[in-house]
Amino acid sequence: MTHPAELDVAVVGAGFSGLYLLHKLRGMGLSAHAWEAGDGVGGTWYWNRYPGARVDIESQEYSYSFSEELQDEWQWSERYAAQPELLRYLNHVADRFDLRRDITFNTRVVSAHFNEGTGRWTVTTDTGETISARFCVMATGCLSVPNEPNFPGQADFKGPTYHTGRWPHEGVDFTGKRVAVIGTGSSAIQSIPQIAKQAAEVTIFQRTPNYSVPAHNGPIDPEVVKAWNANRAENRQLQRLSAGGFISSDSTEQLSVEVSDEERRQTYEKRWAKGGFAILGAFADQMIDPVANAHAAEFTAAKIRERVKDPVVAEKLVPRGYPWGTKRLCVDIDYYETYNRPNVTLVDLRETPLDRITATGVQTSEADYPVDAIVFAIGFDAMTGALTRIDIRGRDGLLLKDEWAAGPRTYLGLMVAGFPNLFMVTGPGSPSVLSNMVVSIEQHVDWICDCIGWLGNRQLGVIEASPEAQDAWVAHVNEVADQTLYQQANSWYLGANVPGKPRVFMPYAGGVGVYRELCDGIAARDYEGFVLQPAGG
Ligand code: FAD
Ligand code: NAP
Repeated sequence: MTHPAELDVAVVGAGFSGLYLLHKLRGMGLSAHAWEAGDGVGGTWYWNRYPGARVDIESQEYSYSFSEELQDEWQWSERYAAQPELLRYLNHVADRFDLRRDITFNTRVVSAHFNEGTGRWTVTTDTGETISARFCVMATGCLSVPNEPNFPGQADFKGPTYHTGRWPHEGVDFTGKRVAVIGTGSSAIQSIPQIAKQAAEVTIFQRTPNYSVPAHNGPIDPEVVKAWNANRAENRQLQRLSAGGFISSDSTEQLSVEVSDEERRQTYEKRWAKGGFAILGAFADQMIDPVANAHAAEFTAAKIRERVKDPVVAEKLVPRGYPWGTKRLCVDIDYYETYNRPNVTLVDLRETPLDRITATGVQTSEADYPVDAIVFAIGFDAMTGALTRIDIRGRDGLLLKDEWAAGPRTYLGLMVAGFPNLFMVTGPGSPSVLSNMVVSIEQHVDWICDCIGWLGNRQLGVIEASPEAQDAWVAHVNEVADQTLYQQANSWYLGANVPGKPRVFMPYAGGVGVYRELCDGIAARDYEGFVLQPAGG
């Protein structure tokens, strides 16, 4: 846990991003150290311990590719690994590569200030430590700051409350309890079936229904593992060049609007039977053409009506008013079937808004729902939340939070003009949350480390995004988003879930493969769009 007084690189966060960064930087002979708010590694998989938490991309795809040995020795047990297994995996990575000695746990980075005289960052923590580093890398996560519940009357509630993103390590026993779940995003869709199996009663408060597809989870198929490993290098390369960073969706170029109704139905049925994100690869026009998108929506809605016995409840669960897939598609295990249980009630907050939380339960405009515990599955201050909570100051004391007051602006989602030598992993303006994030994380870590190595080889000490390159990138990100249907949903991709957050589409929707080529081209052209200066300049 000790580190030199003057570091080459300060890393914030010890999830997938921070761990790989430490390993890679150390391999380059650089001094690097990470600070992590939690008391262990794992990030998302350390914090989100709610019942049912698991990955929505097939396990072998949602894993590091940087080490052949690691890939050879790790065996996933399920098609979609659950949180405890993912956390074991990340702990294994930390141990295998001896990373813990370079991580300070239980410590939050509170500020990072750039010193123009020395060209170094001064980083401070909530334990009073001050660190000097040439580079600072924010590996702080896109979904690491819970959206804090702020319901009228909340403080009056006498029972326990839980946020899915900060679940107690010892677990929660809901046996015999009446439980309210507020929210119906991925976290709720995964946890509700598990909570309903244990609790006496579960009441779900839904503001917006989500589209969800069945995972068809089970023990990982040995044939899948064999096929994956037989062509592993090629599969990994295909992931890197794909649109979403995963290949199990088996994407086609076929257009939904060009096939017959029967052919379309068969395609969707086949992919529904396969489960998970297979449906995302069905047609190339689903996310750009409203007609094709409506085909996907109609098919999924029909499945909801099949899965839910009570037609009134089914209609409440059918999403309306926003295009299919423009909020992250959920992958569930028995989510809709859970509404067939006698101990589960759905409250539609669009019909009867949530008025307040009382001492004994949840009150809507129509009724009181007495409960013993409340689960807030209300998501995150996504993409910018972890960064704007740190006092990050660049040149002339420029505060990142102020710079982003009208929405985040970056060059490639990697750097911000006015903030030299400060990198972000999966920052806004990169594919990040629209992708298999492990693939995007590895790409960013490789790019950042290559950049630091390149600067060192040329006796350059400072790199900074030029304002012009940043403006052009922001314009490109917006232009690509405008070609999709994403802007039409009130999603957290647009910050719409956090009151007062500017409505800006934050991730880059151009695809992981396209984005990688752009980043590689910029690096090959001696970091085009970046201003470079000698060390100390
Ligand atoms: P994180 O895992 O979020 O780690 C960031 C770490 O930084 C955290 O541990 C946090 O404590 C720490 N940190 C933040 N700020 C500070 C600070 N100021 N000081 C010190 N430490 C700090 N992605 C997928 O691709 N597929 C999935 O199936 C999937 N499932 C998900 C399920 C859930 C419940 C959630 C919330 C996210 C999911 N994601 C998924 C996204 C997931 O966040 C990424 O896949 C990946 O785990 C991110 O890794 P990371 O290291 O970049 O960030
Ligand atoms: P989320 O998708 O933002 O869902 C939050 C839910 O809470 C939404 O239904 C939202 O309704 C509701 N909500 C928020 N504030 C509310 C309020 N004041 N009153 C009533 N309802 C409110 O958050 P999440 O489910 O935690 O998921 C976030 C992301 O994490 C996912 O999109 C995904 O990327 C990742 N994730 C993945 C998995 C997985 O399957 N592997 C699991 C969990 C999370 P509105 O829609 O109306 O805002």
